[in-house]
This record gives sequence, C-alpha cells and structure tokens, in this order.
Amino acid sequence: DSVFSHVVQAPEDPILGVTVAYNKDPNPIKLNLGVGAYRTEEGKPLVLNVVRRAEQMLVNDQSRVKEYLPIIGLSDFNKSSAKLIFGADSTAIQENRVTTVQCLSGTGSLRVGAEFLARHYHEHTIYIPQPTWGNHPKIFNLAGLSVKPYRYYNPQTRGLDFQGLLEDLGAAPSGAIVLLHACAHNPTGVDPTLDQWEQIRQLMRSKGLLPFFDSAYQGFASGSLDADAQSVRMFVADGGECLAAQSYAKNMGLYGERVGALSIVCKTADVASRVESQLKMVIRPMYSNPPIHGASIVAVILKDRDLYNEWTVELKAMADRIISMRKQLFDALQAKGMAYKLLFTLVIHVCTPGDWSHIIKQIGMFTFTGLNTEQVAFMTREYHIYMTSDGRISMAGLNSRKVPHLADAIHAAVA
Ligand code: PLP
Repeated sequence: DSVFSHVVQAPEDPILGVTVAYNKDPNPIKLNLGVGAYRTEEGKPLVLNVVRRAEQMLVNDQSRVKEYLPIIGLSDFNKSSAKLIFGADSTAIQENRVTTVQCLSGTGSLRVGAEFLARHYHEHTIYIPQPTWGNHPKIFNLAGLSVKPYRYYNPQTRGLDFQGLLEDLGAAPSGAIVLLHACAHNPTGVDPTLDQWEQIRQLMRSKGLLPFFDSAYQGFASGSLDADAQSVRMFVADGGECLAAQSYAKNMGLYGERVGALSIVCKTADVASRVESQLKMVIRPMYSNPPIHGASIVAVILKDRDLYNEWTVELKAMADRIISMRKQLFDALQAKGMAYKLLFTLVIHVCTPGDWSHIIKQIGMFTFTGLNTEQVAFMTREYHIYMTSDGRISMAGLNSRKVPHLADAIHAAVA
C-alpha cells in the first residue's frame, strides 16, 4: 500500500480549473472566457513581434552563457523595471532608495515581498480588497501574514465602494499593510479615479498604513504604461515607503517565462541596501536564484529605444482590442435588450437584462458581469461558455465572431 494512500484529492484551482473543464468539452462552439491570458482575434495565444526580435538577438549573441544569475537576478532587468514602474525621472531611484529584485513573475514577487514583511515588519496584518485575485489570500497566509478584507466593490453600482473602502482602511490598525491593485483591478475591472487615489493616499499616509502594490497589468489596461502607473507614482512622489510587485506576463506576453520584479521603496539608501541584503536571505533558500531567459528578453527590450517603442505599439494594440471587445459586447447586449423589451413588454412583466454600461466602464482584461453562480453554470451547460463562477469574463478570450454567441447566452441566462 502507498505511504500516500491517505492523501485526498485536492479541488481544482478555481481559475485554472475552468480551462481544464473547457479542454474536456468536445463541442466546437465552446468559448473559454476564464483564461487570464491574451488571445488574438483568431483566439490564438500571441508572442509579441518585439519579443521574437529580442530572442533572436539573444540567440545570435555568442557571448551569452547559461551561468547562474545572482540571487536578486539580472541587474539591467532590475534597474529598467524600477524605471518602468516608478518613472524614468523618479527621485526615489536617483536617491538609491529603491531596491529591486527579479522574482518569478507577479506571484513570486508578491510571495517574496510577503515573506520579507513577515520577517522584518512589525505589523503582520495585510488588508486585501474584497473581492480580489483568488491567489492573494493564499500567498499572504502562507508567508505568515494575517489577511483581512477591505470593502472595494459595490454589486449594486458594479463600481467602487469608495465610502466602504475609506471606512475600512480608516479603521485598520496603524502600520497595517494594504494590498492595492495598481490598475485594472482583478476580478472587478473597477479602479479608483486619480482623485480617489489621492484621497486613499492621504488616508493611508496619515495612518501610517504600508502600501503593497500589485502591478500585473501596466500598459495592458489603458494602453499607456505611464497612465497605468499613476497610482504607484503618487505614493512614491510623497517620499513615503511602499512595495511593488511587477509582472511581465500580460504586458509582454511572457506568461510562461515567469518574469517579474519586487521593488521596495525606502526612506534612505542605507535602509534600501540593508533591505536588499535581507531579500537575498528570503530568496536563497526558496529557489536560489531566478531564471535568466525571460529577464534577458525584458532587459533587451527596455534598454533599446527602438525595441521599447515597438513594444509600446504592440502593447497598445492588445489593450485596444480588449477595449473594442467591451464595446462590441455592450452593443450586442443593448440590441438584445431592445428586442427583448419590444417582444414581451405587453405580455409579461419582464426582468430586462438591465444596464450593461459597466462593461465599457470597467478596465483591463476582465469584466465582472454581475452574473451569479447559477447563471454561469447555465451558460456553461447550455452554451459551452466557460468562466469563473463569480461571473468574471476575460475580454481577452473574446473575439468579434463569438460576441453574438456570448450575448445570446447572457441574454438567456438573465431572462
Ligand atoms: N496579480 C494579479 C492581480 C493577477 O491577476 C495576476 C495574474 O493573473 C498576478 C498577480 C500574477 O500573475 P503572474 O504570476 O503570472 O505574473
């Protein structure tokens, strides 16, 4: 008998499990809106042209070897990553108050940051938005932090619960850590306005709350790398401290390369240098040092003006396709709503599909449709449309041809 025979079957990851179910469905009309990765209009994964070019340059460079990187990763990559998120002219960078370490994409950056905080920060409570990316509570719990929610989303308005957010952060113990999605909040697609960010900043600084930014979608949300980093830059411009986890999965399409960075902005260069020495102590026994290939691609692109410019164009094209999908789905649902009303108004009291404007107001890869678990199950069963049970759909998984099918399904689900 196996020494592991007592091991029980673990549940499928709620997000990755959607794709597992999708893959098993033989019906050709099936549509996967659960996947958190960009797809082309043809429904295919995309490798950016600029990434292909950078890889070609790396391959052609005979001087390149496959030695271990340092514990904190590729130096050029770290420097360029800090500039990308904090701005090329950031005073914090100029004053050497920022330490940046290469980590295993966004997830690994969050985990390393959390492990560091659990060891070296006096307050072990981290507030995370309600709802948030499903991996957040697990990452922080496993690192030894205690996780509490703050109100974020208002299902009635399908927008920000700004009052609730301010109340909850206002009631948090001084020094508590607060996880903030830098842009394109996952899963809701709801971001604070710049004015609201400023109020959040003032509240957090006045209470000594420590910001931990998760930046998984810089440039992917609005199409502008600078616009999507505004929230982070506001918090760095005030001279205060913060953490930021960056991922290149979405904005460079480097999902499987696992390339990201953790930056900690400190009050002084001296503190930053000691913090970096302790980040090495976290990383060394965890995975020793990060992989070289993905970080080299990013470093090549960020350091070369031509490649960088080409990247921004391709990035904007991805963002624009997603924004256009929002518009097309919204229009299709509006049209349905009209037809539905005309047909049935005189017969029965109709529960109209309602206001779908949140689809075009929300930002980033996802739309929080407001569909409930039963409606999602119905759409999967009857229409072979796959998404997470919270009603989150990936706009990146959609294309023009599939919009009518999705609109039909949503219409039938809410009717
Ligand atoms: N944070 C958020 C909010 C995300 O949505 C994701 C990916 O879906 C990540 C972090 C981390 O992704 P990765 O580890 O692939 O960079």
